[in-house]
Formats: sequence, structure tokens, C-alpha cells
Amino acid sequence: MKCVVAKKPGGVEQLEVVELPKPTPAKGELLIQVHATALNRTDILMREGKTGYVANPIIGVEIAGTVVEVNGDSPFSIGDKVMGLVNGGAYAEYTVMPSDRAMMIPESFTFEEAAAIPEVFLTAYQTLIWIGQLQEHETVLIHAGASGVGTAAIQLAKKLCKAKVIVTAGSKEKLDFCQSLGADVLINYKEESFDTEVHRATDGKGVELILDFIGANYWAKNLASLKVEGRWVLIGILGGGTIEKVNLFDLMLKRVQLTGTLLTPRSDEYKARLTNEFITIVTPYFERGEIIPVVDKVYPLEKVGEAHTRMEENHNTGKIILQVQE
Ligand code: NAP
Repeated sequence: MKCVVAKKPGGVEQLEVVELPKPTPAKGELLIQVHATALNRTDILMREGKTGYVANPIIGVEIAGTVVEVNGDSPFSIGDKVMGLVNGGAYAEYTVMPSDRAMMIPESFTFEEAAAIPEVFLTAYQTLIWIGQLQEHETVLIHAGASGVGTAAIQLAKKLCKAKVIVTAGSKEKLDFCQSLGADVLINYKEESFDTEVHRATDGKGVELILDFIGANYWAKNLASLKVEGRWVLIGILGGGTIEKVNLFDLMLKRVQLTGTLLTPRSDEYKARLTNEFITIVTPYFERGEIIPVVDKVYPLEKVGEAHTRMEENHNTGKIILQVQE
């Protein structure tokens, strides 16, 4: 089968489409003929050899495709159209996935739209609802609002929690798109100081929850944007992972709950539980068209390097998709 690996750890020039044997599903797994997969920042780390947690040499963590083999008991049958998270191995014509992690693709969705769902929507659901404990009518600050996870989080926060959503992004076009998804307060972090704008939008109180993809260089402004006893979920370090000076007393004084999390290295059992709750709670919104997958651009598998470059240059709004086969 055709698949994508990194010849050696490094830049996009290391990405190569190669032929490798089709995987064999173990007991409890499905063999999927992959039609589409999508990019995630973790794929760039995989390409660079910077993740210690994905053993599969084939890049990619999510797919949309057709079940072609079932090993063991499963609610799925050959021919079912499914999407979901895989343990690496997504940029390929075939991959295996645990049966209890697959989700039926809503009927009206193409494979490309379905591939835009698993990683970012499951991450957004997990971090807003499970970890962030977002409650009805609370206010949440979502950084990188036009990112894959950001566009999912805006919609989930609005539809599931009727939250007031404040977003940051780096251009008017991206902010306009966030508004079309339901965001209430739009902050261009390149032109405005986001903590000042957060205070303006919350009568000086700050937000109950921050979804933070940025990390180090937002540390002080995030702290200033958070309400007393606020929750802060750190899920990315696009702005750096090391802070020169931190006064821990500031966290104590505000009684802040700061939680770091990574979905990819979580256990199979955790991902199955998350997927199953997501199917029950969120799938009906997809079926009614009230929550939508956001597709930025679709590339053929052979153009994987261009697709990675688009993500690394921060050009995308929503998800970059790789079409693997028709
Ligand atoms: P994405 O679609 O590639 O979007 C990222 C956006 O972040 C960029 O387009 C850019 O938009 C903004 N950005 C980049 N560098 C920035 C900086 N230094 N300061 C401010 N904004 C910056 O990303 P994604 O796939 O949704 O992922 C978003 C983040 O979530 C990544 O850090 C990823 O690693 C993380 N993530 C974590 C988990 C987890 O389990 N912890 C799971 C999935 C994703 P602008 O043009 O607006 O600047």
C-alpha cells in the first residue's frame, strides 16, 4: 500500500510516499481502507522525530474510510463508513483501528469532511467539557480561534454550554470566520493586548476558562485574563514551552487550576470512552447541521509536503485534509 513516512527526522523534504505492506487487524480491530486523513501539529512533531509516544513510522493520527475487515466482535461490518483516531499510521491507503474507537460518518458528510472531525473535535470536547468543566453561560477564552481545535471548540462551547466565547487570532479574515461559527468577542492579538480586551468584555472580572494553545509567551496575559478560581487548560506550546520567570504566588493568589494535557499518548481505553461519549453527545449536532467540520484545503497524498508547509506557515483556517484515494 501507498503511505507516508519521514526518511529521517527533519523538515518537509523528509516526507516521502513509499510502498509498505498492508497492516493486519489484531483481535478487536478493524482494517480500514482510508479515503481521507487530516493534518495535526503532532504530525509535524512526528516528522521531526520529536514525539516519544507514537511508535508507528507512518505519520498521522486520524482517518475517514471504509471498513474492509473486522477481527472479533464489533458493532461495525464490512462496508461501513467510519472515522476516528488511530495510533499512528493514518497517511496510508490502509490502517487499523480499535473497533471501540470508530465512529459512523454522518450520512451527509464526504470523507474529506469526516476526516476533519476526530482529533480536533475530540480534543476540544475533552478539554472544554471533561478537563475544563465548562458550565452553562460561563465565559471561555479560546486562543488560535481559527485553528482546527479552535474552530471545533468555538462551536462546542456555544452549542453545548451556551458559553460566551472570546477568541484570539492573527488576522481579520480568521476572526470573521470565528464570528461566523458563533464567537462573541474577537481579538486580533497582533493589534491589541488580549488581556485588556478580555477585561473590557467581562466587566473587569476575567474568564472562567482558558483553552491555551500558546503557552510561554502568553503566560502573564493569560494569568491576567483569568477570573479568581478560573480554570486554565494548557494543550499547546506554539508560543514556547519555557518561561524565564514565574511567580508561583500569583497562581496561589488567584487560586488558579492549571492542567496540562495531551490526547495522543492517552490509553486506548481513555480514547474509547471519550469517543463513545462524543458519539452520544455531539453526533446529533452534526446530523442536524448545527455543528460543522471546517475544511480549509484538500491536497492529494502526494502533495503532503505542501500541506505540512501550509500548516507550519499558519495559513489554514480549520483542517488541512489529505485525500488518500477516491
Ligand atoms: P492549527 O490548525 O495548525 O492552527 C494553529 C494556529 O495557531 C495558527 O494557524 C496560528 O493562527 C496560531 N499560532 C501559531 N503560532 C502562534 C503563536 N506563537 N502565537 C499565537 N498564535 C499562534 O493547529 P491545531 O491542529 O488546531 O492545533 C492547535 C494547538 O493545539 C497546537 O498547539 C496543537 O499541538 C494543540 N493540540 C493539542 C492537543 C492535546 O491533546 N494537547 C490535541 C490536538 C492539538 P493565527 O494566524 O491566528 O496566529
